[in-house]
Amino acid sequence: MPRILVGSVYFQHLDPARWAERQPFPPLGTLYAAGTLQAGGHDVHFFDAMIAGAVTDWNARVAAVRPDIAVLYDDNFNYLSKMCLAAMRAAALDMIAAARAAGARVAICSADAADHPDLYLDAGAGAVIVGEGEATLAELAAAWRAGGEDLSAIRGLAWRSAGITVRTPRREVLRDLDALPPPAWELVDMAAYRQIWRRHHGVFALNLVTSRGCPYSCNWCAKPIWGQGYAVRGARAVAEELARLVRLAAPDYIWFMDDIMGLKPRWWRDFAAAVEELGVKVPFKCLSRADLVLRDGAVEDLKRAGCDIVWLGAESGSQAILDAMDKDLTTGEIAEATARLRAAGIRVGHFLQFGYPGEGMGEIAETLALLRATRPDELGISVSYPLPGTVFHDRVQSQLREKRHWDVSSDMAMLYRGPYTTAFYRHLHAYVHRDFRLRRAVAQLRDALMGRGNAGGHLRALAFIAYCGVAIPLSWVRLHLLRLMPHPAVGGTGAS
Ligand code: SF4
Repeated sequence: MPRILVGSVYFQHLDPARWAERQPFPPLGTLYAAGTLQAGGHDVHFFDAMIAGAVTDWNARVAAVRPDIAVLYDDNFNYLSKMCLAAMRAAALDMIAAARAAGARVAICSADAADHPDLYLDAGAGAVIVGEGEATLAELAAAWRAGGEDLSAIRGLAWRSAGITVRTPRREVLRDLDALPPPAWELVDMAAYRQIWRRHHGVFALNLVTSRGCPYSCNWCAKPIWGQGYAVRGARAVAEELARLVRLAAPDYIWFMDDIMGLKPRWWRDFAAAVEELGVKVPFKCLSRADLVLRDGAVEDLKRAGCDIVWLGAESGSQAILDAMDKDLTTGEIAEATARLRAAGIRVGHFLQFGYPGEGMGEIAETLALLRATRPDELGISVSYPLPGTVFHDRVQSQLREKRHWDVSSDMAMLYRGPYTTAFYRHLHAYVHRDFRLRRAVAQLRDALMGRGNAGGHLRALAFIAYCGVAIPLSWVRLHLLRLMPHPAVGGTGAS
């Protein structure tokens, strides 16, 4: 039986900001791929880039396993895989070279490989899987196992025939997600994950997914795999998988990695009921939309199911910018959803995005005002990133710079000629975070004066407020100076 080595390609240690957070999650998409191959009767081995020390660890794994087939499979559920990061691309190309040098046939499934198959085929990959990968991978592995050279009958591939890159027709996405073989959880080094999480956070978190895709049309959001399609697992099936995971690894916390959770009406209600019946209520975080949270009973169902925090794609406090993004949300919905969740004791995170075309200082001020009015518990900030295949990418194509990718996920470089320069947005990112943390510190201090909280926390809050009293005005002045910086010529690196 041929040996297949399945590896993820996101190395957290190559992404300094994420490495500093020490919040690794097993590559769930890769585990689904491994589970599918196991169900097909293959001898499957696993390499986990998320917790690997270096690309050389892959080389060592290749030497140990001596695979007939190496599959590099990105975790398409992790938002980090949506950006093509230069460091991860270089690592993937090195992994392909190492596997080829050891005599393995190589397949890769990643957003970057789907966008740029020739880059990966030139590096030695025998096939690039384009779109949803499990069914395509199963057919490819069976074909290679049988010694097949002609891949033209397998949908969802880019491969070389007589030196010419050929793309086979796209494969339909799966509708019945509950029919998929489960992720190969037993291949994960749970002890390593548990140790990292417990040491740095005191809890051990794992990840699950309840759906694939999203039918909304935010015009900067890339959907290379599922398009506008949406498929959801049964609430009971998800609760049962959660129960299995609890028996296997006893996580204290779950991240539901869906792009949007709870789209199907009453899904959260059914999930809460199943969780209660099975006795597996584990605190979780998820991403959703404000309008879904505002549906009748949604907040109560989330609470019953064990929700700790909902991250909302707030993006902007400017209705004009939300409309320009085709976000199909109002700032009022974002504010109300935030308030309702917090009133129910569920924390709220806001994702914000700066630098969308048309956003000037007035719109930035509106975003700051929304942030101050709604007071989310957590904040994630990025700048508009032109992902290939999006309406936004097409709109700014003529303004794209030479630098087309971020080096790491915290890069924040403007890849197109945005309203202001990269230096402005990097400083805005720091300014908004500082302003946000200042307001949180003030709230903590207010708690202290009212006799709530612990003394150490109060002292830290006081020290931070004193620091911000100086730092924030200076930061504001610097921001306005950076606003006046001229743009480098279009075609420059985008790093200034
Ligand atoms: S709701 Fe979220 S996942 Fe869906 S299109 Fe908008 S940004 Fe993308």
